[in-house]
Amino acid sequence: MIQITMPLNFLGTVYREIRQALVDMSEMFDLLGQPAEVQDKPDASEIKVTGGHVRLDGVEFGYDAARPILKGVSLDVPAGQNVAIVGPSGSGKSTIGRLLFRFYDVGAGSLTIDGQDVRDVTQDSLHSVIGVVPQDTVLFNDTIRYNIAYGREDATFAEIEAAAKAAKIHDFILDLPEGYDTAVGERGLKLSGGEKQRVGIARTLLKNPPILLLDEATSALDTETEADIQASLEEMAEGRTTITIAHRLSTVADADRIVVLEHGVVVEEGTHGELLERDGRYASLWHRQQAEDAEAA
Ligand code: ATP
Repeated sequence: MIQITMPLNFLGTVYREIRQALVDMSEMFDLLGQPAEVQDKPDASEIKVTGGHVRLDGVEFGYDAARPILKGVSLDVPAGQNVAIVGPSGSGKSTIGRLLFRFYDVGAGSLTIDGQDVRDVTQDSLHSVIGVVPQDTVLFNDTIRYNIAYGREDATFAEIEAAAKAAKIHDFILDLPEGYDTAVGERGLKLSGGEKQRVGIARTLLKNPPILLLDEATSALDTETEADIQASLEEMAEGRTTITIAHRLSTVADADRIVVLEHGVVVEEGTHGELLERDGRYASLWHRQQAEDAEAA
């Protein structure tokens, strides 16, 4: 009996791990682009996060040597602060996220969290301290309870419920035919973009990471839903170091600091007010977007 159950248990564990790895990969695909190419050092240690101070120092990087993407980017995100990265498409915003996860190694310079170079710590421990809320949360063909708890198999129902409440999806779930046991995903109930994102927020709240990487939604959410989701993201970001990769400027005005990236170089940095006053790149992007929004209204 033991001989039969042990391999079955083992297979169950392997299956769950593969399943989780697949979701990790697909969920991060948009933001992070590629699965890991780098290896842990033989003497890699577990990361120890004290406050969550993220620092890029003169980071240079290119996906291939012939085409530099980041050309000496320095970025300081003090513990608990919210820094937004804005800039034109292709300027390298998401690449910074991929380097933070160490999906690639920097070509020059360094990237540290609380003084620890990401190259010196295990990738598992690094990934456990960073929560990602992607544009499009991937759902399993399973219950909504499972989908929220994914990644925290030890979570109690009370914890799942508290996360759902904080993500403002609890009432919606109670109205479903089988509540938390309702099947969702491709073969179950299909959730809207906003509902899926709330599942993503609840999932991240359960994981409770000290550092957040938010890939701001560009998907077609209506304005009201977008504002609601934005409020939930801001609530979640309270007390955590947060890096927001922003595609729309209207949602970053409250950030502690805004960094404008162009062609892999930080061209401006400051608060929304400071940058408007400077009347440079950010101000012109802002005025252009205001005009576009007014036209669309
Ligand atoms: P967007 O706002 O459009 O998402 P971004 O500022 O996030 O743009 P990145 O995704 O960081 O831009 O891409 C920066 C540059 O790197 C782009 O020119 C892109 O084509 C290139 N790039 C991104 N991923 C890869 C990759 N896996 N291999 C090669 N080049 C890549």
